[in-house]
Amino acid sequence: METKRDFLKKLSLLAVGGIVAGSATPAVASNSNTNSPASAAKKMIGLQIYSLAKELTDNVPDGMKKIAKIGYSTIELAGYRDRKMGQYEVAEYRKICDDAGLKITSSHVNPTVRKYTKENSAEIAEFWKKTVEDHLKLGVNTLVQPGMPTIESHDEAKLVCEIFNNAGEIAKAAGIKWGYHNHNMEFKRIMTEAEKSAAPSPSDFFHPKGEIIYDLMLTGTDPNLVFFEMDVYWTVMGQMDPLEYFEKYPTRFPVLHIKDRLVLGQSGMMNFENIFKKAYANGLSAYYVEIEKVKDNMTQFEGVKGCFDYLNNAPFVK
Ligand code: MG
Repeated sequence: METKRDFLKKLSLLAVGGIVAGSATPAVASNSNTNSPASAAKKMIGLQIYSLAKELTDNVPDGMKKIAKIGYSTIELAGYRDRKMGQYEVAEYRKICDDAGLKITSSHVNPTVRKYTKENSAEIAEFWKKTVEDHLKLGVNTLVQPGMPTIESHDEAKLVCEIFNNAGEIAKAAGIKWGYHNHNMEFKRIMTEAEKSAAPSPSDFFHPKGEIIYDLMLTGTDPNLVFFEMDVYWTVMGQMDPLEYFEKYPTRFPVLHIKDRLVLGQSGMMNFENIFKKAYANGLSAYYVEIEKVKDNMTQFEGVKGCFDYLNNAPFVK
């Protein structure tokens, strides 16, 4: 079946050949202020800017323009600290992105403490209030914590969930959604005191005792206050299947980190087609490409471009 994209493509080819005349001409002309006639069907692909490391922070204005030129539409920040983005005030940083044609839609931020206690919960709340204030100036619609607080017991998990809910409430009051991003440590199990003291049994191998921390986070937080930005690569590295989580908690993953061991699609260990299909069915609203390692002879920008091309050419990505 001919898609709108194919149709527009054909239209532009005909127009270049000078065959189209009359009523078709204005339609082509109306596209002349965009990069390509296919831009009407441009995929909204987001990038987590951490992917570029020093190649971006060395020259942010030029780097942002390069990101936009590759074809990315939105970015998720990393690097907010002491109420600034690197050497820039937040308003200045936003202007740089606006000028490059990139929309800042999300930002990764960790509170300054890793071990949460009843005593420091007010300090953490204060941190989120200031962070939200600054992120209103950046124009984001989501704020995401990417680092796991210390969780070694069910009690610690419970306190972390309360503090996550509170962060979600602070953000929600300002119209920002608050989420949590995982690595692989969240798929470790923690046991209750009773489970710890029970005698080991051969069935422990197939039915390990304890609860997975990620599940404790999902069930212990309020879905109206906390969403989960699943990093699909780190979930697989945690020996879990992203699809099982999408099935079990269908409404909790509106945002994803799309990541592979190297450039997307190269390792063969990630089934992105199944991931996207299920995520769309569950109402996926945004996703961000992330890349850490690239091959030795490659720059980070080349890796980031390779990832964009993979998703842009993938028929299963809308
Ligand atoms: Mg990630």
